[in-house]
Amino acid sequence: MATIKLENIEKCYTKDTPVIKNLDLEINEGEFAVIVGPSGCGKSTLLRLIAGLEEVTNGEIYINNKRVTTTVPKDRDISMVFQNYALYPQMTVYENMAFGLKMRNEPSELIKEKIQWASKKLSLEKLLSRKPKELSGGQKQRVALGRAIVREPKVFLFDEPLSNLDAKLRIQMRTVIKRLHEELDATMVYVTHDQVEAMTLGTKIIALNEGVIHQVDSPINLYSDPADTFVGKFIGNPGINLIPVNISENFEIHIEGKKKNPIISEDIDTKAIFKNHSKKKVILGIRPEYVVLNEIKNNGDILEGELKLIEPLGNETLYHIKLDDITLISRHYEHKHSDWNLGMKVNVNFNLEKALFFDFESKKRI
Ligand code: ADP
Repeated sequence: MATIKLENIEKCYTKDTPVIKNLDLEINEGEFAVIVGPSGCGKSTLLRLIAGLEEVTNGEIYINNKRVTTTVPKDRDISMVFQNYALYPQMTVYENMAFGLKMRNEPSELIKEKIQWASKKLSLEKLLSRKPKELSGGQKQRVALGRAIVREPKVFLFDEPLSNLDAKLRIQMRTVIKRLHEELDATMVYVTHDQVEAMTLGTKIIALNEGVIHQVDSPINLYSDPADTFVGKFIGNPGINLIPVNISENFEIHIEGKKKNPIISEDIDTKAIFKNHSKKKVILGIRPEYVVLNEIKNNGDILEGELKLIEPLGNETLYHIKLDDITLISRHYEHKHSDWNLGMKVNVNFNLEKALFFDFESKKRI
């Protein structure tokens, strides 16, 4: 087990355009840290910097309090698992797993023991004499995992290891990796663009966008307590609804051009929340499960939206509603509106106790 510390890391591939910007991060012993963010945000770069496969432009990296900023990868005591498996095609499964150990001149009896141990853990016993081309994607990835664990490194690094697998296999492999983490008690750093994978695997999640960390937190906090609109939108499927609203002089919330204004109820203390935002625009963030739709009974005090799309998913139904130029998503856990049609008008209500508010300029939580 090991700790990892990144201090003021900057990485530029081309002069003066950093893809990682003054980044600080600490990963504790035994943690399963998941770096999550959209494609191109710098996740792989960050992992490769920890591995030593890329050099930092500025900053320092420590593994177990030892400075490794300029240490070559093989001396960092890490194992990395890649999306494309990176197996040697001419070698058998056994030879692939043994390769790193042979390079370290470990005795062949010990190598055999370790491979037996790893192949049992990963159900690879019957595949040891096969070549990679005779394996399915899931099997190849299990071999790649086996090769990583036999080396018994201090740190495991995973770069989107499940992205090439189909959805069902991804779920199975998630369980395998999670179990490995529990059994090996190792420090793991895992990169993915898939927020579900991040939430299910991670004990600590690092939300990254454009080379900047937006939040480091537990999966639940990331969902219920996002630091800014990026995290709110990225985490959750679908993400949080974001609605620009105006705060009046007496701290009421107004949606532009809507009949039902103000939309506020007694549920929240707007005076306290908006003490620095009176007469300003802010962003109201509300998760789909807290947007409640009802049929319009009378035309009085309503916030009227138009039903644009219905997605019945079995355990839940998602309703896409257009509110002028904003599209909102409402999640209902019962499919009770089977008579609702596209184009019909519905009354939109927000469970404002659950609303989150963000500064319009900085996009950070108020
Ligand atoms: P992610 O893993 O989040 O998809 P990457 O770390 O692969 O993102 O890439 C971050 C940014 O750095 C992207 O804009 C990408 O084009 C750029 N980049 C990655 N590797 C290189 C490289 N070797 N040379 C130049 N630019 C690179």
